[in-house]
Amino acid sequence: MIQKILLATHNQHKLQEAQEILAPLGVTVVGADALNLPDVEETGTTFQENALLKARAAFRLTGLPAIADDSGICVCALNDEPGIYAARYAQKNGGFPAVFDVLNQRLGDNPDRRAYFICAMALVLDQKNESVFIGRMDGQLAHTPKGLHGFGYDPMFIPDGFSQTLGEMDAKVKNKISHRAKALQKTFDFLKEYFKKEE
Ligand code: IMP
Repeated sequence: MIQKILLATHNQHKLQEAQEILAPLGVTVVGADALNLPDVEETGTTFQENALLKARAAFRLTGLPAIADDSGICVCALNDEPGIYAARYAQKNGGFPAVFDVLNQRLGDNPDRRAYFICAMALVLDQKNESVFIGRMDGQLAHTPKGLHGFGYDPMFIPDGFSQTLGEMDAKVKNKISHRAKALQKTFDFLKEYFKKEE
């Protein structure tokens, strides 16, 4: 019976979010910091590949069932760029908020400002049991970035059905609709079924 799952991240917000969503399973979710895990280079060409790379490495190093995510933002009018390179793209363009200006310049007066966040959540239970769950949040890029909540591209993203950017939104609201929350929920559903079969 699985009692502990490793979330291969050093990000305390991600850890807390996963602990909250997976809590009803009755497993302990520990982060990479607690086990001193090194960062894994994201050499994959898709969100799925990168998430699996990280989860496999964490499983190999610890022997614990491991979850890892990879996420990013895709801008439809820019051929889905920056995609898996979202973090590196921001870094290359002066970080946040400088990268917002770069995106606005690239989009110019294009009325198509659709964008979406993707999160791939990889779960490695053992050598033979690997799954990847995808969560997606669709929206529009704001012309003027707004708000101080969240991180990364949040001030520039207005989710469909809302009028505020993620940067203006309460974390509780974002965590109900986010790509990561959706992927985590699918991971939860899978584990719940898996535990039922194990009983
Ligand atoms: P990572 O998968 O956590 O490394 O995320 C990759 C990059 O995508 C981050 O550095 C952010 O720039 C961007 N990103 C991913 N998820 C979010 C989000 O929920 N809000 C804002 N930016 C995000």
